[in-house]
Amino acid sequence: MGLFKFSRSRSLWMMHFCTGCGAIEMPPTMTSRYDMERFGIIPMATPRQSDLLLVTGYLTVKTLKRVVRSYEQMAEPKYVIAFGSCTMRGGMYWDSYNTVKELDLYIPVDIYINGCMPRPEAIIDAFIKLRDMIDKGEANAWKNYRDNLDWYKQNQAKVFDINKWSAKI
Ligand code: SF4
Repeated sequence: MGLFKFSRSRSLWMMHFCTGCGAIEMPPTMTSRYDMERFGIIPMATPRQSDLLLVTGYLTVKTLKRVVRSYEQMAEPKYVIAFGSCTMRGGMYWDSYNTVKELDLYIPVDIYINGCMPRPEAIIDAFIKLRDMIDKGEANAWKNYRDNLDWYKQNQAKVFDINKWSAKI
């Protein structure tokens, strides 16, 4: 493992995009009980200064737009964790007219944390897995976005097509 990978994997600045109930597990993850900072992970307010995007909760058309915009503002290399059943596959909102069911159709995801709602132990486990993937040079989902930009943009356009959605509503 090179010095760059070692340093990068132990100094991750994280923007968390919390839209649902699972976000309540973030305060204990950040504070003294689970203390994510011991892994070099600190919260960051702006995407331009973040390495890691953690998306929690159900996604709607509105929030997906913000998630994509935030992701695109992050500098490469960048990483994404999808947190919870709603983010990954729609969860209990799987048949809602206004939720987006699969985050990884719109931006690439490195790690999935299953559950409703996942406990802080699962979040810490995901951080350690991501750290190991970066060390081994395996956290490369961000390259997919660049290499398959047309595919991602087509998927995004299907959701952001206002006429289609207003017709459904
Ligand atoms: S996965 Fe569960 S905890 Fe997370 S937003 Fe959905 S319903 Fe809430």
